[in-house]
Amino acid sequence: MRILIAGGGLSGLSLAAHLAARTEPLGPITVVDDDGGRPIAQAGWASWSDRPGLLDTAVSRTFDRFRVHAGGRERIVDLGAYRYRFVRGDDFAAAVTRMTSRHGGVTFHSGQISEIRPAGEGAEVLVDGEAMYADWVFDSVLGPEPPRADAWLTFRGWHVRTAAPAFDPAIPTFFDFRTSQRRAASFLYVLPRGPQEALVEHTSFAPARTRGVAEVKAQRDALGEYVSEVLGLRECTVGREESGSLPLSTHPVDRGRGPVLAIGTKAGMVKASTGYAFERIQTDSAAIARSLALRGHPFDLPKPPHRYRVFDAALLDVITRDPAQLERIFAALFDRSSAEPVLRFLDETSSVVQEGRLLSGLPPSLYRAVARRHR
Ligand SMILES: Cc1cc2nc3c(=O)[nH]c(=O)nc-3n(C[C@H](O)[C@H](O)[C@H](O)COP(=O)(O)OP(=O)(O)OC[C@H]3O[C@@H](n4cnc5c(N)ncnc54)[C@H](O)[C@@H]3O)c2cc1C
Repeated sequence: MRILIAGGGLSGLSLAAHLAARTEPLGPITVVDDDGGRPIAQAGWASWSDRPGLLDTAVSRTFDRFRVHAGGRERIVDLGAYRYRFVRGDDFAAAVTRMTSRHGGVTFHSGQISEIRPAGEGAEVLVDGEAMYADWVFDSVLGPEPPRADAWLTFRGWHVRTAAPAFDPAIPTFFDFRTSQRRAASFLYVLPRGPQEALVEHTSFAPARTRGVAEVKAQRDALGEYVSEVLGLRECTVGREESGSLPLSTHPVDRGRGPVLAIGTKAGMVKASTGYAFERIQTDSAAIARSLALRGHPFDLPKPPHRYRVFDAALLDVITRDPAQLERIFAALFDRSSAEPVLRFLDETSSVVQEGRLLSGLPPSLYRAVARRHR
């Protein structure tokens, strides 16, 4: 069985590693990437996890609590069984290279993909105009028609360095609402690298009509104000700036088309209420590899219960209509000594009873939005 992975970013490389880790013979695997856009060495992903993972050697920073600031109150929240982790793109690529070189059957091919089309029992991928055949194609590049976006997550971050120690290297700030909510539901996020270095990021949930086009000046003003007024950093330099815009959709993606299966962002792996995808992509890669190895096809994948989509849709509905609600909802959700129940819910692994307990203290606007979804 010949396997081609279209795109060697987070999902393509994760899948290559998970396939290479299987003990069953799966045939040759080719990863095709155009090395363009955003080099993986410059990427980095934060995520939370409560279990060991295949690519844990790539984790460079681990935290067991985080700071939240909402409703005029700051608290340090323990993560319980979870750890918040950061993986640098270059460490991730190196971990995947180690895993796939042990396997021996994985090839990396540089080229631009323009089309993926059915051919015989499998599919042909056009790479720089040349057709490459595979029995199974995993596509993180072209994908099916994207579903309608319910909202956009827009963010802009500054890599800040200070003259004197200013950050607690053991505690990231998961969210801090001390910024304007006038344009969109927004918060600041701080990921420390050390006492004098951190990524400070402004994040907004923008309505669908914005199409993810951020107001750059407003983002920079908010960052500047947070750094100088809220954090009170006087002597600091801003190094690299990074920004992005992610469509958030609660609509399911029809990811399988014959021998082609969409993966990563194209498969709807970005969680609509958080914008996080790293752990979901790891879980999905493991499930695809298991299905391929045990069933001979990649479609035996778990389907998360529908109620999580309803919650995500209700949340986006509420906060894009009334941005101030996000702070109220987050303040209520994280008003506990451990974030574990919230993270379990966001991971879509909580029980209905746990969810009942978790959601009972949330603002009524959220329930009204859930009711609207069921009309
Ligand atoms: C700036 C940013 C920061 C993010 N941070 C986080 C985070 O901290 N935590 C988290 O959980 N999620 C994060 N996400 C969301 C998500 O995890 C990432 O977008 C993730 O990279 C998605 O993986 P992917 O494989 O779908 O896409 P990518 O990682 O973008 O991979 C796609 C690959 O395909 C290649 N490619 C594209 N077009 C072609 C073509 N025509 N031919 C050949 N190759 C092609 C690209 O070069 C790329 O290597 C972030 C997203 C962005 C945009």
